[in-house]
Amino acid sequence: MPGYDSEKCSFFTKNLMKWHKNYNFRMMPWKYEKNPYKIWLSEIILQQTRVEQGTAYYNNFLKKFPNIHKLASAEDSEVFKVWEGLGYYSRCKNLIHTARYVSDTLKGIFPTTYEGLLKLKGIGPYTAAAIASFAYNEPYAVLDGNVMRVLTRFFGLNVPVDTPEGKNHCSHLAEILIDKKNAGLYNQGIMDFGATVCKPKSPICSACNLSKYCTAFITNQTEKFPVKSKKIKKKNRFFYYIVASFKGKFYVRKRVEKDIWQNLHEFMLIERAQKSTVDSVLHHKVLKALGIETYTFLFASTHVKQQLTHQTIEACFIQIEIGKKQHIPGFDLVDVNTMKRLAFPKLIKMWIQSMI
Ligand code: SF4
Repeated sequence: MPGYDSEKCSFFTKNLMKWHKNYNFRMMPWKYEKNPYKIWLSEIILQQTRVEQGTAYYNNFLKKFPNIHKLASAEDSEVFKVWEGLGYYSRCKNLIHTARYVSDTLKGIFPTTYEGLLKLKGIGPYTAAAIASFAYNEPYAVLDGNVMRVLTRFFGLNVPVDTPEGKNHCSHLAEILIDKKNAGLYNQGIMDFGATVCKPKSPICSACNLSKYCTAFITNQTEKFPVKSKKIKKKNRFFYYIVASFKGKFYVRKRVEKDIWQNLHEFMLIERAQKSTVDSVLHHKVLKALGIETYTFLFASTHVKQQLTHQTIEACFIQIEIGKKQHIPGFDLVDVNTMKRLAFPKLIKMWIQSMI
């Protein structure tokens, strides 16, 4: 671990705090919040989600579940319905688990220390540091992609941030830099600075009060940082949904596999390795295995895409009417009103909204 120039470190902290005090105009409903329930909610929602999208979900959650007990006593399906469309559904599962644990076992009181917070399901070092510093001003520095970008640029850190060594470097540096007396304000400042000034593309260096000592700026290498060791390979998946109906009702099931969209609902799915014709999908053995032999083909949609972090899902909806009511293992036959109360992946929800 290299030593860091103490003058450069104190310049960074002092000027970051100055920027936060005088020029940080970023507005978010959870900003300066002290209630750990609300901070926790906002942080879980914001993991892998942009602030613009997360804000509406945060407001909806608070409206529906204004405190931890309300959230803890809700049905799983009710919480998943509010979460619908946010993605990364394991977050929602952990949210429900932790809400019930805090409400029942801890009598509704969140742990007040970083270590205590870390023990809760779904709370890692970043979220624990955010809650501990915002709610209790505990001196723990947040470290996420935004913060690592700012630090690697300013200090010219060449070590890849997607390796344990790179993360350790950044974490060590973040601990040195934090304003221990104003940990909450410092963390808020560096997060907002990364999001609005030292942005991934086109950082606003000309208006940055850190530029004087910023290595990336001085050496004209802002695009080079943060250094990464590998490129993430994206996978393409082709989903063919058989929307089987019988007298205005539809066959749906809950996804239980350890895959994307766990606990959300869907129609019968036939996944293919490549784009396929509707005919070939309808002749697929899965349909036969489910016992669907006779049906009337109604129509097929065009392919629609949903981009996830590491996967592109391309889906097609094929609607068929079954002549005779039948039991299909794992599926329920539901009416439109019931379907509206269930949580579906965004792509299916949009299709349902356009059709029903
Ligand atoms: S000068 Fe540019 S690269 Fe350096 S910290 Fe400021 S915005 Fe980021």
